[in-house]
Order: sequence, then C-alpha cells, then structure tokens
Amino acid sequence: MTKNNLFMVGGAKGVGKTRLPLEGLTDYITGEILSQNRNLVLDTHYARYSDKEEPNKQFRRGLEPEDLERLLEKFNIFPCLVEVPLCELEQRRKNDPKKRVINMKFCIATNWDEKLHDYLVKLNSIYKKDKIEYVFGSAPFSIFGSAVANLPSVSSEEMEKKIAHLRNNGIKFNYLVNSTIFPDLTIKSNYQKALEYFDWIKRQGVEIITIGNKQLLDFVYHHFPDLKINISIAMGIKKIEEINELRKKYPNIERVTLHHTLNRNKAALIKHIKNAHCKGKLKPIKIEILANEICLYNCPRMKEHYAVLSKITQGNQAKSGKVWEWCGKKRAANVNEFLGACWIRPEDVQLYEDLGVDYIKIAGRRESTKNLKLRVQAYMNRRYNGNVMDLFMSEFWPESKPPFIDNQKLDGYVGKILDGKKPKLNISYKWKYGKPKK
Ligand SMILES: [Zn+2]
Repeated sequence: MTKNNLFMVGGAKGVGKTRLPLEGLTDYITGEILSQNRNLVLDTHYARYSDKEEPNKQFRRGLEPEDLERLLEKFNIFPCLVEVPLCELEQRRKNDPKKRVINMKFCIATNWDEKLHDYLVKLNSIYKKDKIEYVFGSAPFSIFGSAVANLPSVSSEEMEKKIAHLRNNGIKFNYLVNSTIFPDLTIKSNYQKALEYFDWIKRQGVEIITIGNKQLLDFVYHHFPDLKINISIAMGIKKIEEINELRKKYPNIERVTLHHTLNRNKAALIKHIKNAHCKGKLKPIKIEILANEICLYNCPRMKEHYAVLSKITQGNQAKSGKVWEWCGKKRAANVNEFLGACWIRPEDVQLYEDLGVDYIKIAGRRESTKNLKLRVQAYMNRRYNGNVMDLFMSEFWPESKPPFIDNQKLDGYVGKILDGKKPKLNISYKWKYGKPKK
C-alpha cells in the first residue's frame, strides 16, 4: 500500500500555550489522523513542546514520539518550514490587531520655532503608539528654493542649532529642496552656489532630503551620492513604473511621497506599498502620504501652484497672491469640492496604517506655532473635536475664511470611499467668519 503524505507545517512555539485536559488527547488526535486516507497538512501547533521549553510537561499540544511512530506506519511525514516573504508578514501583522507592532510615523512641518520643537519632543514622550520621527523644513530662500513661499526667516546658524537640538531629542530631519524648477546652473556663480548649498546641507547630517524635480535628482546623485532622497509630492508620482524608473536610476532614493489622489485609491495605494516594500531587484523604499495640504481633487492647476512657489523661494518675482485664488473660489462656491479632495483626518490614520503606509506628512511650514501644535496633537491623539478646517491652511479659502464643518460628522466617510462606496453626506456647514465675497 502506498503511504499518504503528512506535511507538518508552521506553528509558533511558545505562543499561546493552553492548559489542555491531557488524558487521551494525543491518542484521540493520532486516531483522527490515522482515520484519514489522503494527504494531510498538519498544523504543528499540535506537536508538543520540547522538554527544554516545557520541562514540567504542563503545557502540551498533543503528539508524543510514540504517536509519531504510529503515524509513520501509514504516512510519509515531512516536517516543513514555510517561509513567508517579509513584506507579506509585515502586511499580516499590520492586519492583526493582536500582533500590531508598527504604528504610524509622522513627519511634521516646522516653522523653526524652538517652542514647537520642544512640544514635539514632549508629544513623543506622551503618546507611545505613534511617533514623530521626522521634522521637515528649509530656508525661506535659496538657489534651489522649495515648494512653500513666505516662510519665516531663519539663518543658517539657527537652522544648524535647531536641527541638532531635534536630533539630540530623537527626532530626525528631512531638509526640503522640493521646488519643481531647476535653476540655471550653466551660470558659473549659480553652479558654485548650488555646490555650497548642498555642502552645507550635508554638513548638517540631515537624515534625508526631499527633491522635487528630475534634474535636481541627477545633480545630487552625481555630486552627493550618499545623501538619502525622498521624492517630493511635487513630482506627482502616481504610477508604479514612474517610481521604479527613478529607483533604478538613483539607488539613493529611500522614500516617495505619493500624489494626493493615491490617498483615495485603495487598490493603487496597496500596489505602491507592495512594490515599495518588497525585496526584489530594487532596494525597498518607504511610502509617505500627505494628510492636510489639499487643493481640489487632482487639481488641474497643481503644477502651476508648485511652479509659482518654486520661483518665489528662489528669490524671483511671481504673483504669489493669485496662486490659490481660482481653486479657493471653486471650493467656496461649492463645499463639496472640499469634501471630494484627498485629505486625511486624524481619525482616518488607522485606515492607512492598516494598509501599510510608512509615513504621514503633516504640512504647514508657514503656519503659527499654535496652529501646528493643534494639528500635531490632533494626529497623535487620532481624534479632533472641532472644525475640520482647523487642520488645513485657511489660505485655501477666499479671504482666508473657511467654513465650519464639524470634524466628527466626517467619521467613517473616508473608509467608505476606500471601500469603493459612494457615501452620501449630509454635511451642514456655516461660514464661521462670514461668507467670503464672490
Ligand atoms: Zn489648486
């Protein structure tokens, strides 16, 4: 008679020990297995603990050596080691509330106020579940610029001290060089300034820099290949092919901040996360999404927004006041334009944590310390009682007059969208500071 196969698979030793009524148990299990005339896979939770692990034999899960002998008469027994890819394991852990070990890591905008930095350090000591891992910021002006204008003035010396202070308190720094426009480096003095700027950034020992255009990626890779790179949201990465092409070319890429619309596209976001985390030919990278700097959904003027801000921060003339006007008016005329955008409230963080997102970015580099504190506390607390608009820049609205929308009324809304439903919202709102003029 040909024997059937018995594959003994998996089992987590030392986990979930149970006191079992032992009398007759191993006999019963062995008898049940022997009654089967087919190939079987046996979860080795049912193999007993070794004498070393359980010398008192108080905790047992079944089979003794003599049981195995009986089984060997009828089965070919194969002890199997099942290897689960690390990315798959991480995903499972994140979906298992009992084993959840990794929580959300936040990257917070700085206005360079020391009081804000001290507050962030304090929050890290209070909230144990999530962590403020990075602070991000930049000088208000530079040869390369960044993607936010009208930033508070700060000297290089002050930045150096503040970056060091954060590091001494366990918070890393992400230095932004995320303008979308590359300066003319064929001009010799510009080229010199560019090298000096990056020499300075490198000396600060910042853990990562954020880059907003391909030419700059090339420049950094050739001149400063050991600087670690985050691809800015300003580059608008939506497709897997786009990011993989960059990863192939520039192995110093460590992270990508995905295009806003990915916040609402669960299937595409999962694909991005798997692609980023898997150990294949390309080095794994981290995924970051932006929570609170929304324009319209897939705003058709996004490139223009970034271009204007880039020019201003490079010290060039641009009509800064007009940059949000068109979108702001659309939002004010129809609040659904806000509801349709890609924001993530503190209560929604869990949804993205469960999918395996590594970082959530909280924007607001030109905001007051009071506003930034309120936002970070809300996200670390994962709950905010008040006007959802407090979490966003009021400048997105004409005359900086956002409406009042009770944040709690939006509970469950994003989850439904991610599940492919079209939730109906009965949102009532009022113009807290008076309706803006048309
Ligand atoms: Zn816009």
